[in-house]
Amino acid sequence: MTGLDLLGAQQRNLFIGGTWREAASGARIEVIDPADGSVLTDVADASTEEAVEALDAAAAAQADWARTAPRERGEILRRAFDLLTERADDVAHLMSLEMGKPVAEAKGEVAYGSEFFRWYSEEAVRIHGRWMQAPAGGSRLLTVRKPVGPCLFITPWNFPLAMGTRKIGPAIAAGCTMVVKPASQTPLTMLALAAILEEVGLPVGVLNVVTTSSTGELSTALQADDRLRKVSFTGSTAVGRTLVAQSADQLQRLSMELGGNAPFLVFEDADLDAAVEGAMVAKMRNMGEACTSANRFLVHRSVAAEFGERLGERMGGLTLGRGQDDGVDVGPLIDEKALDGVTRLVQDAVDDGARVVTGGSAPGGPGFFYSPTVLVDVPPGSAINTQEIFGPVAPITTFETEAEAIERANATEYGLASYVYTRDLARTIRLAESLDFGMVGVNTGLVSNPAAPFGGMKASGFGREGGFEGIEEYLETTYVALPAD
Ligand code: NAP
Repeated sequence: MTGLDLLGAQQRNLFIGGTWREAASGARIEVIDPADGSVLTDVADASTEEAVEALDAAAAAQADWARTAPRERGEILRRAFDLLTERADDVAHLMSLEMGKPVAEAKGEVAYGSEFFRWYSEEAVRIHGRWMQAPAGGSRLLTVRKPVGPCLFITPWNFPLAMGTRKIGPAIAAGCTMVVKPASQTPLTMLALAAILEEVGLPVGVLNVVTTSSTGELSTALQADDRLRKVSFTGSTAVGRTLVAQSADQLQRLSMELGGNAPFLVFEDADLDAAVEGAMVAKMRNMGEACTSANRFLVHRSVAAEFGERLGERMGGLTLGRGQDDGVDVGPLIDEKALDGVTRLVQDAVDDGARVVTGGSAPGGPGFFYSPTVLVDVPPGSAINTQEIFGPVAPITTFETEAEAIERANATEYGLASYVYTRDLARTIRLAESLDFGMVGVNTGLVSNPAAPFGGMKASGFGREGGFEGIEEYLETTYVALPAD
């Protein structure tokens, strides 16, 4: 069994209140193979009323789910981790088909994404409040932790599994119910995940999945409903701002994992072998379609030429192709719009004076492929340095001093991931303290870890996913005052 076979025809539908069903209108959304633009299959296209029915199911399940023993919630997550791990090859193949990434990378995402279930299966039994004596004596202060309540999760197409599990895992552990709206371009992986959670015994109504082309209407309707208590969103800053604005009436709790513009700093004392290796990971993971993707390479003038040349050699040696084929390193971008956006940013940079070391164009033919590209002499103000590229393009600019590097790195509205390569410990501390980013990778091109608090600041949003912090997003605190005399 591989790829599409993982999902029965019944499961390419809405999952509401424990039932798989078609949209009442019969409408469908086509799922496109980004490697050739053909239609892979289709999924149900829910109406806003059906989205509200999903919230009805979540709201109806909330009280019983909140009362479920923490161990039971944890063990459901643990069984889901085991089943996802057992089916990793098939889930990865399915993900590769709809999203385009090479199967090996998709397997990496299954391993990473499923770890959120294992981590939160272990955290479910560690939710606790506190008991303390009031400073003036006389009374006792207790805190009780409670699930926030029904949640809405909206996820993007770039990590179709992991962006879901890092919300669903802590929500299940905390005792919250949920409606999940996956990206319309990659709904299949989320539907496969829902089927796994159903199979391991997640009670009816705890998780509901709604695919729709009326996304704006769905979020507006659900956020207007006072039963919805929390929204967790991963996606663009523009949509994040809309959801924050829509939360005002019902004062929903929010987690916003938004865009990034990660700087990758290489100092004169860096281990260049490690820096090139790290750059390949930070740039090429997910074909550059990651919010943590290195977007701006800031390299000390004394090592910039060598770094650019070596990165160019490595990038130029990658094999482009269909993600399911052997030996492929780089898959297609998600769609034509993405391809046009990358093409335009590179062209603008070249018009601004940048020089192409490798790549610099789309290879043509079917699918949405763009060649891995390295650009040098990129003017700092070029659009490619200020916008999220979301593609396999590494623009390199140079700096002279540490102060200049920090100032330029922070000169962005975003604040998600950043990377630094240096062997100087004191400098590492200065950088970690002065870079305005939620994450700083030191001599590593990979910051994501299910046990760490992932998240950003400024226009990259707020809230943390993963780690001990991740479950806090799904818990409320009630303080109880107890006179003791
Ligand atoms: P997007 O357009 O914001 O879409 C993300 C999700 O939002 C999709 O499910 C989309 O549904 C939905 N959506 C669109 N309009 C909406 C609306 N008005 N109300 C409610 N939901 C709406 O983002 P994208 O281009 O797919 O994803 C890439 C972005 O995600 C990048 O900026 C990237 O940096 C960011 N990202 C951030 C993180 C992080 O953790 N910080 C992780 C991964 C990605 P449809 O598919 O139906 O349009």
